[in-house]
Amino acid sequence: MLKFQEAIKHISDSARISTSSETLIARRYVLQQKLGRGSFGTVYLVSDKKAKQGEELKVLKEISVGDLKPNETVEANLEAQLLSKLDHPAIVKFYASFVEQESFCIITEYCEGRDLDCKIQEYKEAGKIFTESQIIEWFIQLLLGVNYMHERRILHRDLKAKNIFLKNNLLKIGDFGVSRLLMGSCDLATTFTGTPYYMSPEALKHQGYDTKSDIWSLGCILYEMCCLDHAFTGHNFLSIVLKIVEGNTPCLPDRYPSKLNAVLHSMLNKNPSLRPSAAEILKIPYIDEQLQNVKCKFTNMALKDKTFNCQKETARIINAVQKKIHLQTLRELSEVQKMTPRERMRLRKLNAADEKAKKLKQLAEEKYQENLKRMQELRSRNFQQLSIDVLHESDEQTSKHLIQSQPVTALDYISIGHKERSENETPGRLCMSEPVEHEIPEDPQIAEECYNDAFDSCSETSEEEEENMEVSQTVSKTDQQDSDVEAMVKYLENVLNNSSLGSGTVTRVAPVVPQGSRAINNTMAETKLKRMRESAIQKLGAEVFEKVYSYLKKARQQNASEDEIRECLEKVVSRASDCFEVDQLLYFEDQLLALAPV
Ligand code: ADP
Ligand code: MG
Repeated sequence: MLKFQEAIKHISDSARISTSSETLIARRYVLQQKLGRGSFGTVYLVSDKKAKQGEELKVLKEISVGDLKPNETVEANLEAQLLSKLDHPAIVKFYASFVEQESFCIITEYCEGRDLDCKIQEYKEAGKIFTESQIIEWFIQLLLGVNYMHERRILHRDLKAKNIFLKNNLLKIGDFGVSRLLMGSCDLATTFTGTPYYMSPEALKHQGYDTKSDIWSLGCILYEMCCLDHAFTGHNFLSIVLKIVEGNTPCLPDRYPSKLNAVLHSMLNKNPSLRPSAAEILKIPYIDEQLQNVKCKFTNMALKDKTFNCQKETARIINAVQKKIHLQTLRELSEVQKMTPRERMRLRKLNAADEKAKKLKQLAEEKYQENLKRMQELRSRNFQQLSIDVLHESDEQTSKHLIQSQPVTALDYISIGHKERSENETPGRLCMSEPVEHEIPEDPQIAEECYNDAFDSCSETSEEEEENMEVSQTVSKTDQQDSDVEAMVKYLENVLNNSSLGSGTVTRVAPVVPQGSRAINNTMAETKLKRMRESAIQKLGAEVFEKVYSYLKKARQQNASEDEIRECLEKVVSRASDCFEVDQLLYFEDQLLALAPV
């Protein structure tokens, strides 16, 4: 088994490791790239050598834990096993965890679209805003994910834009359940995990953390998607805390419907028991209505992806088949003409090409039938309400009709896809009995060239293999995307059809651990403090850090006013807000001293 350090010494901050330095972690992962550093550890992109083709890229989180006691390791691993059993399209898949020397490693799904925080910054810098429909769509996805985890009694404790990822423009919540695995489940653990901007009043006041505290954070995220700014802001840590605990609830700008603002306000109610659960929000008539729209859009997407995928696959195959037809015409031509020995040799090659094309045709038909069947299943599940004549035909008739005409006509029946179809992707026919109009140049010289071209592309087996590989990669990629969209449709349907949602019937995966039964994991808390200190020193420089640290410590003890603090800080740093981390560090140190069990 690997020495983790051995593997990472090959990898510089942003550079890719060279293939020669492939060191296997846990006998299967190869580090590819450093993705970033989080509050607990470093995040890497890895390639899983044991994964299926097209699913190799995963994320490895390396959390340095110092010397974990054996029972802490066992507990964390049990928790991890439970997490790995969960599966939802809006939750970043948790695959595995293991301890590697002094590091606790977590393997999760990789989301190539970066996090929501990056996306928000990108939009803010470009002066753009998200469309209302995009916000609603994302918000519903988040609600579905949170509802799935809350039904299983799993809390997030650190919901923030930085923990939400984009994958094929779908949102996925990362780190769900990870905080307890790392920090324990007492209130102090939450304070240590959570990011102040998203923390609920009850969590800040140590009055207990439950599902409603996650709802508060989700409200903050909804606000952020609409306004591209935090719901509660301040230039120092304590002023944010004060705003959350005592300040007014922010409103959405007028461009948003008042009903959405009402949802936000209910989520940001200072009293957790008055906040709705995720299941209740999904049942609010305004959201329910939006849910219908999202379901329709996703159902269309699933169908379109299937058909488009099928269309792309067949387009390639059809291309090859057409070439073959072209050659066939040439062959007939050569038969009526006098054949030279060279041409006879070409004829032999043509026969070989014939065989190949026959196989391709068969494959195309099989693939097409398979996709058609899947599409029909989906359609009958989701489009029964559509009164379109062709749907009244028997399946047999429908498929016959579809095969005899163009495969993509299936798209027309659900009136999508026309715009997406590009000219060169116009599908040809799978049935080859019809004549094909391929002009053969009159000039024998040009005809010869044309003949050669055709031979070249037919005899390049390596190219074909490459092409086949390309096909299978595209398929597996879109398959994954499809399965997320399809799974999302399934959950949307569940919510729409299930009137008992939120009535308390839950499938329990994780055992209910009484609040506070696990004390804060001191090792983790200390690691976190150490990291915060390092990060602040890096930002301010050691000397300034010491000055700010001792000044703030004194000022907090003496209850100095915010204005006074700011004025003093700005004598040593350019902006008082640069000291935010030091302020937070002092707060955490205080909390740990006052509340941690002795
Ligand atoms: P934090 O402590 O802020 O939650 P993390 O440790 O979760 O940070 O992540 C650190 C960095 O790695 C972030 O920049 C994040 O965008 C990236 N990252 C984390 N998980 C994933 C993932 N599953 N896919 C892609 N990038 C990720
Ligand atoms: Mg994270």
